[in-house]
Amino acid sequence: MDKVKCPDTRWSWVEVNLSALRRNTQAFKRQLERGVQMMCVVKADAYGHGAIQCVKTMQQAGASQLAVATVEEGVALRQAGVQMPILILSEPPAECAGTLVEYDLMPSVYTADFALALGEAAAAADRVARYHLAIDTGMTRIGVRRQDVVELRRTIDFHRGLECAGTFTHFATADVLDDWDFALQLNRFNEAVAALRGAGLSTGLVHCDNTPGTVLHPECHYDMCRVGIGLYGLQPAETTVPRIELEPVMSVRGRVTRVVYPQVGDGVGYGMTYRVPKQNIQIATVPVGYADGLARELSNNMDVLVNGRRARQVGNICMDQFMLAVDVNSTRSYKPTGPVEVGDVVTLIGTDGDERITADEMAAQRRTINYEVVCDFGMRLQKIYT
Ligand SMILES: *Cc1c(COP(=O)(O)O)cnc(C)c1O
Repeated sequence: MDKVKCPDTRWSWVEVNLSALRRNTQAFKRQLERGVQMMCVVKADAYGHGAIQCVKTMQQAGASQLAVATVEEGVALRQAGVQMPILILSEPPAECAGTLVEYDLMPSVYTADFALALGEAAAAADRVARYHLAIDTGMTRIGVRRQDVVELRRTIDFHRGLECAGTFTHFATADVLDDWDFALQLNRFNEAVAALRGAGLSTGLVHCDNTPGTVLHPECHYDMCRVGIGLYGLQPAETTVPRIELEPVMSVRGRVTRVVYPQVGDGVGYGMTYRVPKQNIQIATVPVGYADGLARELSNNMDVLVNGRRARQVGNICMDQFMLAVDVNSTRSYKPTGPVEVGDVVTLIGTDGDERITADEMAAQRRTINYEVVCDFGMRLQKIYT
C-alpha cells in the first residue's frame, strides 16, 4: 500500500472514512418514513470513531438528535459547539443535575428522586429541563418498571422545572427474527404508552428501535429510531445483512518499524510463545498493542495484511507493539510472499489490494462482537479522517 496518510509521531493509526459514514447514515435515513427522526448513538466516542468529527457528517446526512452514555460525553459535544438535542441513555447521579441544565443535556429518567433533583436545578436556573422517560419492558437493565410508569409521572409532573420530551424502551433481542421476547417487550411498551396517554400525560417522542430494530421492525419506528452500530458500517447480526447494505467506516493500520531474519529456534516476544521454525522467516514489528485495543488474547491467533497478502501475527502481543512473521519463500498464495521492509503498511482491520480483514473476523477470533472491537481501537490510536 502506498499513499496513506499517517501520523508523524507514531506509525499506527485508525482511519475513519467519513464518506462511508455519510452513506451509511443516508441508508438508514432512507429506511425511515418522512417525519420519523433519526437519533445517532455516539456513545463511547462514537463507538471508537471520534464523536465530534462524526456528528457533523451525521447531521449533514439527516440526523436530528444524538445519544451518549455519559454526562461527560454530552458536555464534550456541547463544548465542541454541537447544538442538536442530546439524550443520555441512562439516569446519571442526581449530583450532576446542575450540569445537565447548564449544558442542556436530556437525561433518561426512571426515579422520582432524580427527576425532582433535576426539576429543582432547572427551576433554580429559571429553565425547564427536558428528559426522556425510560421504561423497562423486559431487558432488566434501566427504566421504570412498566407497572409503575403512570405513578412515577404523577409523582413528578407537578414540577414546573420538568418536561417529558420522550418516552422509550430498549430491546434485548431486536436482531432475532420472530422472537417471542421481542414481541412481549413491544407489547408491554405499547401498553405503557397507551396508559400514559389514557391518563392524559404527554409522552413526547416515542422511540424504541436500535439498529437491528430499525432494519427488521419498521412497524415500531414510531417517532424516532436510535441508530448506533449500523452507522459505523457494521451489521449488528447476521439477520440484518440481507436487509441493508453498509460500508465499514474504520480501518486500523500501522507501518513496519523493524525487520529481522532470526535464526531457527529464536523466540519472539514475552514468554517466547513463538519460535522461528525454519530459515527465511522474517519477523517484523508494528507499533500497535493491547493498550491500543489489540486484545492480547489474539496472540498467535490472528492475521494481518501486508502488501496485499495475509501474514500471521506471532508471539504475545505487547502493550504497544506486536510482531508478525513473513515466510519469504512461501507460494501459498497466488503471489509469492516477498520480504517486507521498514515502512510497509500493515492492515489490522480494512482492505489492502484484494484482501480484507473485517471487525467481524477479529470479533470471532476474540469471541466477542464487532461493537467491542471498534470501541477498543478508539482508545489510544490517533484518528485520521478521510
Ligand atoms: C447503545 C444503544 C443503542 C444503539 O444500539 P445499536 O445496536 O448500536 O444500534 C440504542 N439505544 C440504547 C438505549 C442503547 O444503549
